Amino acid sequence: MQTATGLIRIFNGQLIDGTGAAPLPNAVVLAKDGYITYAGPAQGTPQTDPAARQIDAQGGTILPGLVEAHYHPTYFNVAALEDLDIKYPVEYVSLLAAANARLALECGYTSARSGGSLFNIDVWLKKAIEAGVTPGPRLASSGREICGVGGLMDWNPDFRKIGMEGLVLLINGADEGRAAVRALVKDGVEWVKTYPTGDAAAPDTNDHHTLCMTFEEMHAVVQTAHNHRLKVTGHCRATQGIKNALRAGYDTIEHGTFMDEESLELLLKRNTPVIPALQFEYASVQKGPGIGMPQAVIDGHQETLEGGAESARRILKAGGRLGMGGDYGFAWNPHGDYAKELTFFVEYVGLSPLEVIKCATQTGAEIMGRGEEFGTVEKGKLADLLVMDADLNQEISALEDRSRFIAVIQGGFVRAGRLATAHVTDASLVR
Ligand SMILES: [Zn+2]
Repeated sequence: MQTATGLIRIFNGQLIDGTGAAPLPNAVVLAKDGYITYAGPAQGTPQTDPAARQIDAQGGTILPGLVEAHYHPTYFNVAALEDLDIKYPVEYVSLLAAANARLALECGYTSARSGGSLFNIDVWLKKAIEAGVTPGPRLASSGREICGVGGLMDWNPDFRKIGMEGLVLLINGADEGRAAVRALVKDGVEWVKTYPTGDAAAPDTNDHHTLCMTFEEMHAVVQTAHNHRLKVTGHCRATQGIKNALRAGYDTIEHGTFMDEESLELLLKRNTPVIPALQFEYASVQKGPGIGMPQAVIDGHQETLEGGAESARRILKAGGRLGMGGDYGFAWNPHGDYAKELTFFVEYVGLSPLEVIKCATQTGAEIMGRGEEFGTVEKGKLADLLVMDADLNQEISALEDRSRFIAVIQGGFVRAGRLATAHVTDASLVR
């Protein structure tokens, strides 16, 4: 991705640097050619060129750009799961994905890791964002997901004679797991997303305590993926699924809902990050009754919500790592609501705003394997920065409101916020 040329000086705000450190009042951040050159107290700021672009934080907050750690660019705010695969052709979903990516950037998410997409749209979306063809977060791609036959994602009955090839590669046994990963290697994905367990959404045969892949399948997936330098993650709710994933060598755990002592110990020993994605559960419980969600599904989401919140608290307290993000793209949990995740973790789970910002920035960048490049406000890192007119240490929910963004800066470019100029497509980039 291109970086800007020139100098920026951001002043008149507190700095929350993403490391969990206390806010630094009256801070200055300087950037040159898309990289941070200074972040510290106003007093002691190096001499700045008067030609630098001046950005007044208006007494608010300067922080790192956010990382959506479980992002589904091709989910288009669907009400029914099957719409994800068959409602629209890939051509139209690609355009929707580009619109979702632009929205995420406008919401302050300068980076995102895909948690699965229709076909390999996210691979090409990443290419388009990197080339400057369309705006969006720095992306890590995932493409199609892997699930056992008859598992959570295998929902089309056979009499319909339609498979799931757009969304999921369905496998039976370790050999088919290896074959699926090899197909994804050719697709160009960076992360292999799997379904070790079911979910509250499927209470009859694949609920949140059901396993959807065997350990042998998961292990074969990890060995093949790691051989090709791909990372592996998985939808893990049931306790045994979490343990299988950790023992198989998963690089991250999605949800990590029902952790017992043994799984927590395994997790901490491996320092594997967990992305709980709990606002989705909360939204399902709150809005489910109004949209005709079956009571058994709502009850399952409630159990997931409580189990997930308790596990998240324990993980962080024990020194583990949490990423923020999760499953936006459903009718009751739409794109654009991403920062509700952070508010939820403060208000419902009991994390402090500084803890939750660290999860959403530094840990997010670590999950993407790019912690050296971004995720904190430090000299030498990319100028991926947010300038807000709010004291986020007091009012984390301000992140939900796009009108509170003075600037969303990515690689030194002001991409969104009140100071952004309208996006003008550079025709030379469209090729
Ligand atoms: Zn997901």
